Parts: sequence; C-alpha cells; structure tokens
Amino acid sequence: MFREDRAGGGAGIRPGRIRLRLLLDPLETFEWPCDFCGQPTILGTAGDGLTMAVMTNDGPETFTVVTHRTCLAGSIRPEAAGQQARALQIGLPYDRR
Ligand SMILES: [Zn+2]
Repeated sequence: MFREDRAGGGAGIRPGRIRLRLLLDPLETFEWPCDFCGQPTILGTAGDGLTMAVMTNDGPETFTVVTHRTCLAGSIRPEAAGQQARALQIGLPYDRR
C-alpha cells in the first residue's frame, strides 16, 4: 500500500503503514509452512509455531520468519540455553511450559 506524500511537500511516494488484526478463533487453527524445515506449523495460542520479526538496528526494514519452536531452538547455539528455552516456551500458557 502506498500513499502520496503531499503534506510534507515531497513529490515522492512513500510506503504507508497498515496493521492487520487477526481474531483468536481463526488464529488458533492458522497453519503456515516453517521457513526452516518447510513442514506446516500451527501459529496461535499454544501452537508449535512462532513468527519472528527480523530487523536491523539501524534501519526501518523488517521481514517475518515463520518457524517451529523446535526448529528455532535447534538453530540457537547450545551455549545460549536460555534463548533455546525461551524459543520453546514463549507465548505458551503457563501450564504447558
Ligand atoms: Zn520447522
């Protein structure tokens, strides 16, 4: 989605921002291929998948990676055990951690 920047006096076209909102019910059954292994992963409450926003520290560009919790945890070096544990538990209900 693009919008023309008239208020700032610029003649260029800049990307606009849009925020999508997914309701909980459809999100609970939302599947998407894992970007690491290619197998379907369930995104949503207590699902086996995660979405990661990948960004730089000095620029506005981002992209999203979909991954199984286990694929992400397996890609994190063993010495970073805390990060592996977070990948496996983030977003899960406390009784499933
Ligand atoms: Zn995977």
